[in-house]
Amino acid sequence: MLEVDELDSYIKAGKIASDVRNRAVKLIKNGTAIIDLVEFVEGEILKSGAGISFPCNVSINEITAHYTSPLGDENKIVTGDLVKLDLGAEVNGYISDTAITVMAPGDNLEELYDEETLELNQNIIDASADALEAAISTVRAGVEIGQIGKAVEDAIHAHKLNPITNLTGHSLQHWNLHAGISIPNYDNGSNVKLEEGQVVAIEPFATKGIGIVEDIPGSYIFSFMKNKPFRMKHDEKVLKYIKENHQYLPFSSRWLTKNFNENRLNASIRNLSRAMAIYPYHPLKEKTNSWVSQKEHTIIVEEDGCTVTTL
Ligand code: MN
Ligand code: MN
Repeated sequence: MLEVDELDSYIKAGKIASDVRNRAVKLIKNGTAIIDLVEFVEGEILKSGAGISFPCNVSINEITAHYTSPLGDENKIVTGDLVKLDLGAEVNGYISDTAITVMAPGDNLEELYDEETLELNQNIIDASADALEAAISTVRAGVEIGQIGKAVEDAIHAHKLNPITNLTGHSLQHWNLHAGISIPNYDNGSNVKLEEGQVVAIEPFATKGIGIVEDIPGSYIFSFMKNKPFRMKHDEKVLKYIKENHQYLPFSSRWLTKNFNENRLNASIRNLSRAMAIYPYHPLKEKTNSWVSQKEHTIIVEEDGCTVTTL
């Protein structure tokens, strides 16, 4: 069970994230630089007085998750792109996590895409939205997580598409974005039950592809793992800074360039990753390069249902 002030913080973190998400969606259009979208989201979360749960993810088309801009990112959104925007806020250590997919508007949409492709891409967006709604409607204290997965899978199959089976939702706890329970996007047969007061993020992904994601090169999002001695003084300095400022929640290498020279920082980040003092998240893409949609909400499990904090 949650204390009243814990509940208040979860609700506040959810409200801030949904408000920023709703305003950021309007920036998703032909020509918008990804870094401008990411910096808008992170800046608005901070302006609201909250912290940032994790670097704002903007993952486009077959890129499924874990992309955030590096410093100097020149990538831009193009008309018709399936843009997945994933963000979260932190209030007193209580966090929210929410995502939405938008087909980037632009004047030349009908020139770039035939009708069939546009219909397919809209169907991909609708499938993860329907799946999220179906999943949320199953949630109450005592629901088996395999049954939530079944609701996701059935809703996506109804669109003649596939869920991403090797990505999951997750429980949330104080200062902990992935707190142990995974919410599957298919019926994995698990009879682990959700309990009243648990907070979980449910996040279906839909695709016409086989529904498996794999790592691609690069990493722009990291988590602190453990303190270690390093031969190079600069590596130690960077790790100390990370431990002091980002011990619990994921961070972006872009954020650290405010405090460190970019070239030396990148070298240290590589050394810290190699030694597993920090964990590098690689961007993920659908294995068959099919486009993917995602929708995500954070919910609080109740006796007879749930409260969606990020609505
Ligand atoms: Mn998310
Ligand atoms: Mn999540």
